[in-house]
Amino acid sequence: MIQSVKSIPAFDNKQQYATIEAEISAAVLEVLASGRYIGGPAVSSFEQAFATYHQVKDCIACNSGTDALYLALRAFDIGAGDEVITTPFTFIATSEVVSAVGAKPVFVDVDANTYNLNLQQVAAAITPKTKAIIPVHLFGQPVNMTALMALAKQHDLKVIEDCAQSTGATWNGEKVGSIGDIGCFSFYPTKNLGGCGDGGAITTNSSEIAERMRVIKNHGQSNQYYYSEVGVNSRLDCIQAVILHIKLRYLDNWNAKRKLIASRYNQFLSQIPDILTPQEISGGESVWNQYTIRILDGQREQVRKMLQEKGVNTMIYYPMPLHLQPVYEDLGYKSGQLPVAEQLSHEVTSLPMFPELSEEQQDQVIYAVKEVMG
Ligand SMILES: *Cc1c(COP(=O)(O)O)cnc(C)c1O
Repeated sequence: MIQSVKSIPAFDNKQQYATIEAEISAAVLEVLASGRYIGGPAVSSFEQAFATYHQVKDCIACNSGTDALYLALRAFDIGAGDEVITTPFTFIATSEVVSAVGAKPVFVDVDANTYNLNLQQVAAAITPKTKAIIPVHLFGQPVNMTALMALAKQHDLKVIEDCAQSTGATWNGEKVGSIGDIGCFSFYPTKNLGGCGDGGAITTNSSEIAERMRVIKNHGQSNQYYYSEVGVNSRLDCIQAVILHIKLRYLDNWNAKRKLIASRYNQFLSQIPDILTPQEISGGESVWNQYTIRILDGQREQVRKMLQEKGVNTMIYYPMPLHLQPVYEDLGYKSGQLPVAEQLSHEVTSLPMFPELSEEQQDQVIYAVKEVMG
């Protein structure tokens, strides 16, 4: 008789919610009863806590990670005629904001082992028009920020860290988002610190830049009903703020659980032929937003199908690198131009990863991969 296997989702947040339901409910009900739903102490105390967690001077809450990146570019007056160097192997938001401010995204290739920006390629892409670099700490793994900051300093470039997938990750003991000029965070529900809706935040040590971003996110209002520039409406509402404030206290614990899962996956999967497990660079500590392997020799689709039959759901981040997306046709990139990113897009598969993934479930994933590939 065939034993029915329980299906393991690639991501689940219901279990996590159950563990903090009472706390969240009480805080949300308090906001509802208070009558204050926008701004005020709920938001400012979360901003304070997030700044303290990152050991930075300031944090500005906003509506999303996308807005955080947009506001960062605006704060540096990046726009038409400017170039911003970033990775093609990321979520579209990273480059979308560059286009949104009228600047040109310049995509450079990534490293095959870390999936992060290849810094030699970054250096080679710098022109007189380059204004900023957006490193993405992809899947939770920090970019080598020491090398990147040195390069940026040498060429007088701004560094805007895309920390959407890496809240809590560290480079040489320092939190990502506290090293570059600005750190941008997303609280989308699947992120390491995920809200119950949209949300984002920006961190910086520059009070001047912080003030500028506060103005732009609030309709460009510099004094009440006095507008100094064209802004946007980008707020984190009070309900999200209190939820995130509670969750922030659990973040390190949840990240530690992800790390344990990743090290078990590494231990058992790294020996399997035709699989490459993700490599961490020394100095960096990943928070494993995703655990992403490479499945070689064109076997990925077959393998994913067989895994699914064994109850193991997987995801592909990302099936098409940004430089080849139809939206960027105008930029004139050709297939084959950024070969590592292109190869990764055909090989990567993200296995189930969330802090509450039980040891039994981890075993089921490991056995399934071994059976299919071994
Ligand atoms: C999620 C994500 C964003 C955008 O965040 P939103 O809150 O969804 O707007 C930006 N960059 C990366 C790398 C992301 O994963």
